[in-house]
Amino acid sequence: MRVIKTVKEMEGVAKALRRSGKSVGFVPTMGYLHEGHLSLVKAARRENDTVVMSIFVNPIQFAPGEDLKKYPRDEKRDMELAEKEGVDILFIPSVKEIYPRKNLTFVEVKEITEYLCGGKRPGHFRGVTTVVAKLFNIVMPDRAYFGKKDFQQFKVIKKMVEDLNTDVEIVGCPIVRERDGLALSSRNIYLSEEERRSALSLYKSLILAKRTIESGEKSVENIKNRIRDFIFSFPHVKKIDYIEIVDQNSFEVVEYVKEGDLIALAVFIGNARLIDNWVVGEEL
Ligand code: AMP
Repeated sequence: MRVIKTVKEMEGVAKALRRSGKSVGFVPTMGYLHEGHLSLVKAARRENDTVVMSIFVNPIQFAPGEDLKKYPRDEKRDMELAEKEGVDILFIPSVKEIYPRKNLTFVEVKEITEYLCGGKRPGHFRGVTTVVAKLFNIVMPDRAYFGKKDFQQFKVIKKMVEDLNTDVEIVGCPIVRERDGLALSSRNIYLSEEERRSALSLYKSLILAKRTIESGEKSVENIKNRIRDFIFSFPHVKKIDYIEIVDQNSFEVVEYVKEGDLIALAVFIGNARLIDNWVVGEEL
């Protein structure tokens, strides 16, 4: 595995790969790798000649007061995991490499970023789309892999490449969960053992929602209330950031749930803000 730390070197390698006609699959991450990230590498490995992974904790997608400073990092372990999974090129730029000068240019997807995490974390998606657009320009991949754990992010990136005519195929991959159902996340490290048990309320509430819908309930208000009461029955639930049932393309709220709608949750367990989701009708 080749480790690259500068934009210049990465651009050179990307150009050479393009010229050689080899297909490039790209997995952008913020590191502290887990099986969720590695599932994206597996998908990229299957579909491309070369797999590039990036690790970059992007400061401009964090609002003041969020966890940028304490975001978990372990470069050595990440390198080992990436290499073992078959990553060919690991791109680990510094903040200075990605933002060497004052950045005056931003990529912003409108409307669909106003809901869910976009509504609760102003500026977050602008930071995400800006850095992903930069990374696409540097790495020039044929395909890029995103987890549906961050369902809204996946859709926002898809919209960005569509609107900007970026020649990258965006591939969405299923949520990887622990054996008990907890969605894998780098932020799970923030949880104490007790909080970890409460964190399972997210997944369990989605199961509850699934059963409720299967029993014939269609009222979004009723389903949301059941989810809320269930989550609040666990200790250490500091705050429910949102529980929403929305159209999976527009992210606008719906009144009656139907197949294909998205149930999305964001909950603070202790100090960790955790998200999870389920597309109605899909496997859970
Ligand atoms: P992050 O490092 O958290 O920014 O995530 C990098 C990529 O991994 C994003 O596309 C995430 O959606 C994806 N990812 C994170 N956790 C999971 C998971 N549990 N299952 C599938 N994909 C995930």
